[in-house]
Amino acid sequence: MYIEELKPGVLRVSASADWPKPYVGVCGSIHGDEPCGADAIRRIADAFENGELQPAKGTIVLIHANPEATSQGRRNTAEGDDLNRLWDFEFTETLRQEVWGYEHHRALELKEVLGELDVFLDLHSAGTATPPFGISNGEAPIDDIAKRVNISFLVQSWYGLADKVIIGFLKLAGVPALSVECGAHGDPGISDAAHRIAMNFLRVTGAIDDGTEANGTEVRTVHVIETITKPSEEFGFGSPWTGFQQLEPGTLVGRDRVTEIRVSRPCYAVLPNEGVEVGDDVIYLAVDT
Ligand SMILES: [Zn+2]
Repeated sequence: MYIEELKPGVLRVSASADWPKPYVGVCGSIHGDEPCGADAIRRIADAFENGELQPAKGTIVLIHANPEATSQGRRNTAEGDDLNRLWDFEFTETLRQEVWGYEHHRALELKEVLGELDVFLDLHSAGTATPPFGISNGEAPIDDIAKRVNISFLVQSWYGLADKVIIGFLKLAGVPALSVECGAHGDPGISDAAHRIAMNFLRVTGAIDDGTEANGTEVRTVHVIETITKPSEEFGFGSPWTGFQQLEPGTLVGRDRVTEIRVSRPCYAVLPNEGVEVGDDVIYLAVDT
């Protein structure tokens, strides 16, 4: 078995010294306050290093995306920017290089590695309780893979963020890619959930063969149809929503002194987060496909 550090925080693992295709990428902690991804990757790397786990075919690329923010315990570094909003690389034209933060340099550093992958998983956790769910970038065969990694819901279209997030960049590169929200940051079992999902992904893609079947569960596919941004400091939810809670028509999503937002058709609350800044996304609404 061969293990090599390709770049800081990026390891590649293969049974063969010539690093054969396919390249299967697993990424974690693009947001530094979501350590479950880095934990899962570290556990997998340790298992390879001490011989408990063997690569089967191709090359596995383990990517701890934002080690600086992870060590600071923040979503992004103090001087930097959200690493999962930079993948249109607009900043290379609109922002002078002297004011780039760590994340701007890191996105460029990871770009080449990512573009060469054949399939990709990206692990996150959320601010509030949620069943594990995936967000697909629509490149075949990612939806079939997603249905076998042990998530409850699969979001198939989320156009609002499409060009800025890492799986959007990979779509442009033609790489099937999946982001998974594994649960809430504070769940005691969150790192185990991320590890389980990452291991299933490696099994389903054939990157490992440890004799365990990836156990698919029933997965409901949904579309995000509405992005609601926080209109004011006073805005509060009608109830303390949790992820994928079902909202019936007429339900009060939230209100401030002048605005009331109610749903007009049955939908799901996705990633509700009352604590975001004014103007940032406070909740998404999704419907069954
Ligand atoms: Zn995240």
